[in-house]
Amino acid sequence: AAKSAGKRRWRHYHDSLTSGMMQRREVQAALEDAVKNDGFALVYQPIVALDSGEIVGFEALLRWPRPGHRTVLPGEFIPIAEETGLIVPIGEWVLKQALSDMVRWRRGLPPAAPAAPDKAGEWGDGPHISVNVSARQFFDPGFVAGVRRTLRRSGLPPSALLLEITESLLLGENERIRTDLAELKDIGVRLAIDDFGTGYSSLAYLLDLPIDVLKIDKTFVTGIGSQWRRHALVEGIIKLSQPLQVDIIAEGIETETERELLAAMGCQFGQGYLLSVPVDAAAAEAMLVRGRLVRELPRERRRLPD
Ligand code: C2E
Ligand code: MG
Ligand code: MG
Ligand code: MG
Repeated sequence: AAKSAGKRRWRHYHDSLTSGMMQRREVQAALEDAVKNDGFALVYQPIVALDSGEIVGFEALLRWPRPGHRTVLPGEFIPIAEETGLIVPIGEWVLKQALSDMVRWRRGLPPAAPAAPDKAGEWGDGPHISVNVSARQFFDPGFVAGVRRTLRRSGLPPSALLLEITESLLLGENERIRTDLAELKDIGVRLAIDDFGTGYSSLAYLLDLPIDVLKIDKTFVTGIGSQWRRHALVEGIIKLSQPLQVDIIAEGIETETERELLAAMGCQFGQGYLLSVPVDAAAAEAMLVRGRLVRELPRERRRLPD
C-alpha cells in the first residue's frame, strides 16, 4: 500500500504543470507541439432555458489530451499559454473548430421556427455557440479581423457567436478595446461578461459597453438555497439586468433547488452539472437533435409543445 501511495504521489508530481521552471518549459514545448499538430480538443456544455429545458446553445471548453498523460484542463495550461502568447493561435483554432462544429449541427436540424421580431438575431433563430476569449487574445491587433474572417468562412450568422470575455479585459479599459467591442457588436457578434461578480466588477461596464449577456459566476449560485444574502444578491443582479435588456446565464447549477430558485427569480438561462456536464461534439449534436436534454426537467416545469 505504501508503495502504491508513493507511486501516486510521484505521478501527481509529474502531472502537475506548475511545479517548477523545467516543467514549465517542457509544457511550453508540448503546447507549441500541440498547436502545430492539431493536438487540442473541444467539449461542449449546453446552455439551457431554465423554464423549458430547451437547449439555446453550447459553450465550447478547451481540453488538451496530452499523449501519455491524463487530459489537461484549461485552468492548468491557459495561464502558460497566455504568458507565452500561444493563446493567440490556440484561440484561433478554438474559434474555427467551434464554428465548424456548430455549422454541422445546424445542418442536421429542421429549419428554425421563425423568431419573434424582437428576438430575431438573438436567442430566437437557432442554437448559438459561446467561445471564451482571453484578454491576451484581444490585445492582439489582428483579433477582430480574425473573428470577422473566421465567421465569414463558416457561413454562420454573426449573431450565432457569443464571445465570453472576463472583467480583467475591461479593467485595462483603453480606447482600442472600446472600439474593438463596438466593431464586434457592429458585425453582429454578441458579447458576454463571464464570471460576473468575481473580478473588479464595475457597473459602469453595463452603462457604456455593448454587453448582451451577463454570466453569473458559480460562486454566487452555489448556496442560494441556504443563504438569504446570496439569494438576495443574485436576485438583485437579475432584476438590475432586466430593464437594460441584458440576458443572464447562471453558471454552475448543480442542484434542482438552485435551478428552481433561479427560474423563479427570472433568470432565463443556465448551465451546470445538473443540466449536463461538458460533452464531446457527437453527444452535443445528439442532444440538439433531441431538442432538449437527456436528463429531462420535471414535467410540470416544461413549456414544450406535445
Ligand atoms: P468558464 O468560462 O467560467 O467555464 C465554466 C467552467 O466551469 C468550465 O470549466 C466548466 O467545465 C465548469 N463547470 C460547468 N458546470 C459546472 C458545475 O455545475 N460545477 C462545477 N464545479 N463546474 C462546472 P473548464 O472547462 O475547466 O474551464 C475553466 C475555464 O477555462 C473557463 O471558465 C474559461 O475561463 C477557461 N477556458 C475554457 N476554454 C477556453 C478557451 O477555449 N479559451 C480561453 N481563452 N479560455 C478558456
Ligand atoms: Mg466561459
Ligand atoms: Mg464562466
Ligand atoms: Mg466561471
